[in-house]
Amino acid sequence: MFPRLVAPPPAPPTPRRTESHRDPHTRPIDPRHPRDQPQGPPRRPHLPIYNTTTFAFEDTAALLDVVEGRKAGSLYTRYGLNPTTFALEETMAAVEGAEAALAFCSGMAAEAALFAQYGREGIVCLGDAYGGTLELLADQLPHLGINTTFLLGSELDQLEGALQAGARLIFLETPTNPALEIFDVAAISALAHQHGALVAVDNTFASPVNQRPLKLGADFVVYSATKYLGGHSDVTAGFLLGSAELVTPVWGWRKNLGTTIGPEPASLLARSLRTLTIRVQAQNASAQAIADALEADPRVARVLYPGLPSFPGHALAAKQMSGFGGILTIEVNADGATTSRVADRLALFSLAPSLGGAESLATQPVTTTHHGLSEPERERRGITDSMVRLSVGLEDTADLIADLTEALNEVTR
Ligand SMILES: *Cc1c(COP(=O)(O)O)cnc(C)c1O
Repeated sequence: MFPRLVAPPPAPPTPRRTESHRDPHTRPIDPRHPRDQPQGPPRRPHLPIYNTTTFAFEDTAALLDVVEGRKAGSLYTRYGLNPTTFALEETMAAVEGAEAALAFCSGMAAEAALFAQYGREGIVCLGDAYGGTLELLADQLPHLGINTTFLLGSELDQLEGALQAGARLIFLETPTNPALEIFDVAAISALAHQHGALVAVDNTFASPVNQRPLKLGADFVVYSATKYLGGHSDVTAGFLLGSAELVTPVWGWRKNLGTTIGPEPASLLARSLRTLTIRVQAQNASAQAIADALEADPRVARVLYPGLPSFPGHALAAKQMSGFGGILTIEVNADGATTSRVADRLALFSLAPSLGGAESLATQPVTTTHHGLSEPERERRGITDSMVRLSVGLEDTADLIADLTEALNEVTR
C-alpha cells in the first residue's frame, strides 16, 4: 500500500553547489541530506528525533494521500513512516549506493524479514555465518517450512546442485567469522542469476566503506548496524538494502512483525554514519599494522587477515574490496587454556563478542561465537581452541600492538 522506501525527490537544491558531494560518504554529513521531512525540512546539522508514534493530518484527503501511497508522508512509526526513519534510510541508501533501504531494530530482524519473503523456496547458506543466523536458519525457520542447505567454502561445488534443486536465495558473509574466508560475490551472483535465484550478502564485517556487494552483482545487502555502522557499541539496529522492486515486498514483513527501528536508535545511527568512513579507514590501517606485527611474532602460529599477502583469500579480497577491514583472527602458538590466559591478560582489548566499535575487543571463538558447536563441527569449520578474533578499535595502533605483545608473553611463561 504505502511502502515509501526512499524519500521523494529532493527539494529544489540550493543554486550553489548543485553538482557537489558525489561521494556517497559525504552524504551523511551534507546538511541537505537527508531531508528529514517530506514537507520541507528545517535545515539542521543533526537529525531531529521524532519520538512520535502517530502523525496528524490537515484533513481526510491529505490522510488518504499517504495511506493510499500517492504522497510520501509520516503516518505511524511502526510502519517506518516517521521522518527520522525516512531520513536515516535515505542516508543509508546513499551510502550504499542502493535504491531502497529498510531500517530494522536489529540485524537479525533484517535477516528474518528477508528470509520470510525470499526464503520460502529454499535458502543456501554459504560459509560460516553469524551464530544467530545459523540458529534462525537451522532451528526456527524449518518450523515455518523455510529450509536451508548449509555449504562451507570447501563445498562450493555443490552450490549449482542446490540451485538446480530449487533454492532461490543464497545468503553469505564475506569475509566470514572468524576465519575471514573470502567468497567471490560476482561469480556467485552470476551463477545464482543463471538459475533465477537471488543473492544476499551480510556485509556487516566489511561495511560499505570496504565492500559494495550490490555493485558486485548481489541483489541484497544486509547489515547488523549494531557493529561498524553504529560504531560506538550503543545502538542495536539492522538494514536491508537493494532495488526498490525487491526491497518493497519486505516492507510488509517489517511492518507486521513489528521490527522497525525506533526513532532514537535511528537518530543515533544517522549520527554514526557521519563518521563511518573515517572510522573504518582508521580501523583498516590499524588492523593491517597489527596483522603485520603479529605475523612476524613467533608466539603467533597464524594470522588470518585479508590484507596479508600470505592469506589464501588475499587476491580475491584485493579484487572485490576497497579495504581489508578491522577484524583479524590470530592463532596463538599454544593450547586453548594458554590462549585463554593470553586473552585474559589483554588490557586495552576487552573480552567481548561483538565488533565494529571504537574500542578494541578480543574473543576466543570457542568460548563465545562458536561455543555451541560440537567439536567435530568446529573442526569441519576450521575453528580451533587457539584462535582469538580481534576487532580493532580506534585506540593508538602502537598501544594496541604493545598490549598484544605483552599478553603473548603468557605463551612462554
Ligand atoms: C552481529 C551480527 C549479526 C546480528 O546482528 P544484531 O544486530 O545483533 O541482530 C548478523 N550478522 C553479523 C555478521 C553480525 O556480526
